[in-house]
Amino acid sequence: MDTTRTLRPTSPPIFQTATFAQASATEFGEFDYSRSGNPTRRVLEAELACLEGGERAFAFTSGMAAIATLLGGLRAGDRLITGADLYGGSVRYIERVLAARGVGIEVVDTRDLASVQTRLAASSARTLVFLETPSNPLLAVSDLAALSALTRAAGATLAVDNTMLSPALQRPLELGVDLVVHSATKHLGGHGDLTAGCLIAGATAHGAEWAEELAFRQNAEGNALGPFDAWLLLRGLKTLRVRLAAECASAQVVAEALAAHPRVRRVHYPGLASHPGAALNARQARGAGCVLSFETGDAELSRRWVEATRRFAIAVSFGCVSSSISLPYCMSHASVPRGSQRALPPRDLVRLSVGLEPAAELVEDLERAFERAGRERPGVSVGRSR
Ligand code: PLP
Repeated sequence: MDTTRTLRPTSPPIFQTATFAQASATEFGEFDYSRSGNPTRRVLEAELACLEGGERAFAFTSGMAAIATLLGGLRAGDRLITGADLYGGSVRYIERVLAARGVGIEVVDTRDLASVQTRLAASSARTLVFLETPSNPLLAVSDLAALSALTRAAGATLAVDNTMLSPALQRPLELGVDLVVHSATKHLGGHGDLTAGCLIAGATAHGAEWAEELAFRQNAEGNALGPFDAWLLLRGLKTLRVRLAAECASAQVVAEALAAHPRVRRVHYPGLASHPGAALNARQARGAGCVLSFETGDAELSRRWVEATRRFAIAVSFGCVSSSISLPYCMSHASVPRGSQRALPPRDLVRLSVGLEPAAELVEDLERAFERAGRERPGVSVGRSR
């Protein structure tokens, strides 16, 4: 019985099955084996394509599975040009897996369009440009429309990790980007209860070409998202826009409070007018997101501050309904290989992910935590140090 068509459930059912029986040994139905295709995952993939304004979407067991499927499409002799500030796990995959396969890896500050253009002109090898904007954890903003034009002119492919903002705030494919990747563990799932990832291909020639390869590899490599997690992700997507709207509003309040704090040297948040990418982000996105980071100038103070908060879980992830706090240098970016050609995040950098708790309570918690951190370390002055 096709329950979806006959019973018309308003929430998609979970087709928790590995196989679909065939009418005969030589007749194949729409689905035969869940690694190759599953109805719950198909509903999810259609929804993801729609959210990002893409042509085709593919759901994976984690963000890294999606990124590995994307970047793993590069072969010896191909080139990968990556943004300078990237999630530590992506750096680990690029530098320890891809580089060993003979893919040429280059790091460039993608905010600097002239540098990107020079790199693109330097070789005729098949080239993929991969970046995050805003980046994790330094919130650097790159110009997606300009980068799309540059990569198209050079015959290269442009892929963007859109995890930090999600399609509720930024739709890179509309700006000419070929492929978008997400850690759906973050905003798309939104509740911290699953790991998932996805890839969405746009309508460009390179988007369509890569989509064929991605569809093949999702089945060949067997890293597609299972039915129950696909269903959980579908449930998360239903509230994506309202969650993001509330979290962004609170993140703005928290960022402004931190920017005014005497012991905060620098806040990285594109919602602040002082951020170098604020105007660009406002042009290409509908919000600054709920992730921000700040520097204190004192790694030990930052550690104590993080550990003294009570409303923020000390956790590596972000984009959950409950707020979290982390030290990227020793948490999410500890996976950056030693000797990497890119700079590690500053040791004193604190990253916050603002959830749905009232903003005033989060600000108060940060202020109290700072006082506790100062009390526990007599050397730390609570006075103005800038
Ligand atoms: N992309 C970004 C920007 C991330 O922050 C992360 C994880 O933190 C990933 C990708 C990897 O996703 P996952 O942890 O779901 O594998």
